[in-house]
Amino acid sequence: MSVTPLISPVDLTPPLLGASVAELTAWVQQQGQPAYRGKQLHDWIYHKGVRSLADISVFSKQWRGEVAQIPIGRSTIHHRAVAPDGTIKYLLQLADGQIVETVGIPSDKRLTVCVSTQVGCPMACDFCATGKGGFKRNLGRHEIVDQVLTVQEDFQQRVSHVVFMGLGEPLLNTENVLESLRSLNQDVGIGARSLTVSTVGIRDRIRQLAEHQLQITLAVSLHAPNQKLREQLIPSARNYPIEDLLTECREYVEITGRRVSFEYILLAGVNDLPEHALELAKRLRGFQSHVNLIPYNPIQEVDYKRPNSDRIQAFVNVLKQQFIAVSVRYSRGLEADAACGQLRASKN
Ligand code: SAH
Repeated sequence: MSVTPLISPVDLTPPLLGASVAELTAWVQQQGQPAYRGKQLHDWIYHKGVRSLADISVFSKQWRGEVAQIPIGRSTIHHRAVAPDGTIKYLLQLADGQIVETVGIPSDKRLTVCVSTQVGCPMACDFCATGKGGFKRNLGRHEIVDQVLTVQEDFQQRVSHVVFMGLGEPLLNTENVLESLRSLNQDVGIGARSLTVSTVGIRDRIRQLAEHQLQITLAVSLHAPNQKLREQLIPSARNYPIEDLLTECREYVEITGRRVSFEYILLAGVNDLPEHALELAKRLRGFQSHVNLIPYNPIQEVDYKRPNSDRIQAFVNVLKQQFIAVSVRYSRGLEADAACGQLRASKN
């Protein structure tokens, strides 16, 4: 993946996780060590899962002593909840005591990790649990990469896919998200096409992302076929009309050659009627895209309802008749409150 590194190799300040071989090599040299130690450090951090520099046995005892306190940037598992379908929700404690949520989702040969990009979320979408708790801070690149390594170690299985669909709005933390994408691809070894970033849409940021020419998948939380309804569900949409959002998405397709995936939550009686499906189809006509319907997962604070399966199927049928590529995402991990929109960094 041709992500131009945002951090120059000589600018690295610990935590070390998220750094490229070049950054780590420059760093060990600054510490008076030979260049080949950079590759070793990289291997121990990303492939051996070392948590303290003091444990890297190929380094001299003296140097290990000197750097023992320099943080690699790994979290600790604060809580772990296993759902009957095998999905595991983790609450991870960060260096400053903040807690974030990560979900490991096994299916067939795949292992998908749903990562958070912020502690909390400032977007306050009406139907989403995360926004109800407010916003604390952005995650650093090391804190995003750490989530993937933690799930990989706990499952003892290689992570094949990563979706940026946990707590937070990735495009409000673009630099760290881009850095973590680079690291997950080049350091951890996950294919670019298996990395998905989901956004509610922040003005100019989709275009910015496109300019990096990544082969990642972009998912956009559309949730409504028109501006009026979208504003009701997503407060931030007031400052960013749906037409402008879709124009940026079209540019994304033109620049990257990748189709965009539109997420559409189904709320009974709100946005799930056949006329909504038809309006959505008209809006997306001729657009290289895919619609991913997400039947609403219940959260405490609001009394939306999930439509029944007939209603869901009727919505799907209208889109199909209009030649719109569509799939339904039945969220995993519902019983552990680990499904889409249920994440709030608490035990239940
Ligand atoms: N902030 C980003 C990343 C979150 S992704 C975004 O909005 O895209 C999580 C997905 O789950 C989003 O599409 C979100 O709108 C959706 N979601 C939120 N609450 C939900 C709920 N209660 N039921 C189903 N999906 C929900």
